Amino acid sequence: MVAQRVREVEISGIRKMFEAAPPNAINLGLGEPDFDPPPEVVEALCEAVRNGMNHYGPSAGLPALREAVARRYVDRDPRTGRENVVITGSGSEGLMVAALGLYDPGDEVLVPNPGFVLYAPHARLAGAIPVPYSLPETWHFTPNFAELEELVSPRTRALVVNSPSNPTGALFPRAVVEKLIDFAEAHDLVIVSDEVYEEMVYDGEFTSFWGRSDRVVVVNSFSKMLAMTGWRLGFLVASSPLAVELNKVHYHVMACPSTPAQAAVLAGLSHDSGARRRMLEEFRARRELITRELNRIPGLRCVPPAGAFYAFPHFSWPGSGSEVAQKLLARGLITTPGEAFGSLGTGHLRLSFAASREKLRQGMAILRAYSRSAARG
Ligand code: PMP
Repeated sequence: MVAQRVREVEISGIRKMFEAAPPNAINLGLGEPDFDPPPEVVEALCEAVRNGMNHYGPSAGLPALREAVARRYVDRDPRTGRENVVITGSGSEGLMVAALGLYDPGDEVLVPNPGFVLYAPHARLAGAIPVPYSLPETWHFTPNFAELEELVSPRTRALVVNSPSNPTGALFPRAVVEKLIDFAEAHDLVIVSDEVYEEMVYDGEFTSFWGRSDRVVVVNSFSKMLAMTGWRLGFLVASSPLAVELNKVHYHVMACPSTPAQAAVLAGLSHDSGARRRMLEEFRARRELITRELNRIPGLRCVPPAGAFYAFPHFSWPGSGSEVAQKLLARGLITTPGEAFGSLGTGHLRLSFAASREKLRQGMAILRAYSRSAARG
């Protein structure tokens, strides 16, 4: 009964772990800030709902919000205006819209390995063929250009990039971003750049793909930026002719994004109470804590994540990531097996540090106890 393209995709490994967890488990599995949205944003949402903003709005989003988003991109490309922006019903929807809007059936799409769980299934749902490219730990989770040159074919349509990365926390240096642009230009590829973690950077400097080439589509989200994962709001930035085309797909998926959520986000972008900065400072402290603690546990090795809020330690315990994650789950700790993000995630666990320091300490204690029992065999 179900279409072939749907039979080819599965529910992500992250969700499976979450849904199988015992009550009161320490959840370092899901990637969402444990903060509330900033108070001015919550207030603006309530006000919008009370003041009648409860109906459909323009498909591409409220003009004022599109304008406010465009202003964030002007320093990357001074030509950026509201016509480049489409407000979506989350980064996830933005990624799906990009896939449906850019990939033809039979096209090949280069997707990161390890990489976020939606890129390959979205390519499949659009009838395209995901082709994983390696981000090896030994290369600090950056691409191997010789391999990319081997993987690219006349059927390759797009390159998906994600810096800072989920799950590795790696940040592409400017030189890597520029080389990727050159690679895309040379092979006539469109770049889908998932920049949802752009504000969460601890080491080095974030380099956006926007403003470097007309062949870039940026996918972004307010989920992490404003700690409002449940509100479902994101955006796409693309050249204006492309934005018109992507908006057509977006219209057919959801007609328009949530009107009151857009009013709230607009308030959040225009009146910063400092809540976002405080959240980032807390993430920075947790990142120090988790990296230090993980590297003290025998059998674990963790490269400090430069951005996002994930640690991606390598383990040298027996068993696959799923087996280790299942055993940790039985001890009350939710993690995500690295292989959920592709073959190069094998031997890794992903731990989100968007959880309180107390929860992180409890999680580290479970890992320490597990490491002792693994050593005993
Ligand atoms: N891209 C990446 C890399 C993510 O980690 C996430 C959320 N986990 C998303 C996109 C989608 O975020 P949302 O749908 O909440 O906007």
